Amino acid sequence: MKTLRLILGDQLNIQHSWYDTVDQDVVYCMFEMRQETDYVKHHIQKIVAFFLAMRSFSDELKEKGHQVIYYKLDDPKNKQNLRENIASIIGEKGIVKFEYQEPDEYRLDQQLNEFCLGQSHLSTEMTSSEHFLSDRMELENFFTGKKTYLMESFYRSMRKRYDIMMEGVKPLTGKWNYDHDNRKKLPKDHVPPTPLVFKKDVTEVYNLLKEQNVDSIGDLHQKDFLWPTTRQESKELLEFFCEHCLIRFGMFQDAMTPAYWSLYHSRISFALNVKMLSPLEVIHKVIAHWEDHKEDISIAQVEGFVRQILGWREYMRGIYWAKMPEFAQMNFLNHQRPLPAYFWTGDTKMACMKHAIQQSLHYAYAHHIQRLMITGNFALLAGVSPDELDEWYLGIYIDAIQWVEITNTRGMSQFADGGIVGTKPYVSSANYIDKMSHYCKGCYYNKKEKIGERSCPFNSLYWHFYDRHADQLERNPRIGMAYRLWNKMDEAKKEDILAQAEVHLQNIESL
Ligand SMILES: Cc1cc2nc3c(=O)[nH]c(=O)nc-3n(C[C@H](O)[C@H](O)[C@H](O)COP(=O)(O)OP(=O)(O)OC[C@H]3O[C@@H](n4cnc5c(N)ncnc54)[C@H](O)[C@@H]3O)c2cc1C
Ligand code: SF4
Repeated sequence: MKTLRLILGDQLNIQHSWYDTVDQDVVYCMFEMRQETDYVKHHIQKIVAFFLAMRSFSDELKEKGHQVIYYKLDDPKNKQNLRENIASIIGEKGIVKFEYQEPDEYRLDQQLNEFCLGQSHLSTEMTSSEHFLSDRMELENFFTGKKTYLMESFYRSMRKRYDIMMEGVKPLTGKWNYDHDNRKKLPKDHVPPTPLVFKKDVTEVYNLLKEQNVDSIGDLHQKDFLWPTTRQESKELLEFFCEHCLIRFGMFQDAMTPAYWSLYHSRISFALNVKMLSPLEVIHKVIAHWEDHKEDISIAQVEGFVRQILGWREYMRGIYWAKMPEFAQMNFLNHQRPLPAYFWTGDTKMACMKHAIQQSLHYAYAHHIQRLMITGNFALLAGVSPDELDEWYLGIYIDAIQWVEITNTRGMSQFADGGIVGTKPYVSSANYIDKMSHYCKGCYYNKKEKIGERSCPFNSLYWHFYDRHADQLERNPRIGMAYRLWNKMDEAKKEDILAQAEVHLQNIESL
């Protein structure tokens, strides 16, 4: 009895129970496909990283004695389409059972569901990917009947359930969340650790993409590849984070500077999202390191990191499965403006935007606050269409897979879900950007001005945003303060600010 098991490109979990035994009646299949390279315009590093990681995984399985059918992008048998590839192997190999791990993307889930429904002669089975710490629908059940899904309460339940940083039923030291101890600006001459990169030859994959005319964005670093593409490298990156970055992770988590691109961040999102690392092993490793270095590393650094993985990451996945497919259509603020062209080039006079975008094109990476409070903030203030923005975020980042991209973009960053993920929109004027970054000094625009040709666009757009959305937002208790300030302002001044914002919006492409 022959079984075919599908491994998707983000299911590179070598610890999965599928691989515990070698069975000659089981054949695994993996495909590099145009349906995946082309559904959005991806960063070149992202496509290269996926293909390299998939190839290494297939080699590892073969070395362990498993049978693997691997279609490279230019394989003559490759139909470039998931269902057609599976169907042709089933026919060719006399397969009687088809198995797959639960996909993380709704799109692929639908494709495989439909495929299985059409296979009456075949036994089919979807199994767990054995990666996440909560089930797909767990968050939905956790918040049954609630309008908002408060991350913090879900996070606390996960801490208890997995006994992470707990003393019985109480959090270690009595405090759940150390967010307020974090959020420091990077001191002027501070030098963060040099990021760990990986020596590997990417020419074969790069040439293949060129030959096949796969369209992409961004730069490729041919010598030093920035991303781990094997489990071993992923573990090295995690080790590097523990040794060099954990000590100041929380402290400088929100800091931004044009001088460095990854600061104290872990850069493990790609390794996690393709499942080369498991979230639980990451959390245990980081806590074990902290326990051995308590005299140097404060609990605030560790809790801040654990919250991102045990809290935010699991939470976003839960939101995705609770709210898809409707989530992908949500546009609570009815934003329709096209994405300005400089999102694809970084060619803007706004220093913060220029740096965040150029860094993203160069490294396929920007850290959370650059994504949220620079590019996301600007797009939200300017009223950019969430559809266009989703495409941009989904393409440009190394870690972008829809379940975690769309919940962060449409939900957390653009408030397009009307407040499911975040209780208020994440917007700010230049004040916050200057507080957390070194961007404003030397910028063409003046961070202090709201009016005038050189006034920082974030300043007038900030009030324009609140003013134009007063009907939807004014009653939100978390933003009462902003409206109180706005309503108290002199009418003539308000008009000038709104008029300036309009001028910026009319000239948005040349800001
Ligand atoms: C608009 C926007 C789009 C985003 N798109 C993605 C995306 O496509 N893929 C993605 O993995 N993350 C996304 N994020 C979340 C976050 O920015 C990245 O996970 C993080 O920057 C990855 O870098 P790192 O590994 O160095 O993270 P670190 O800062 O070192 O954090 C450690 C880990 O925590 C997890 N994490 C942190 N914040 C979040 C979050 N908000 N949601 C889910 N997991 C989180 C990640 O797995 C990350 O690797 C997005 C955030 C925003 C605001
Ligand atoms: S002045 Fe405004 S546009 Fe310039 S870097 Fe500061 S926030 Fe950005």
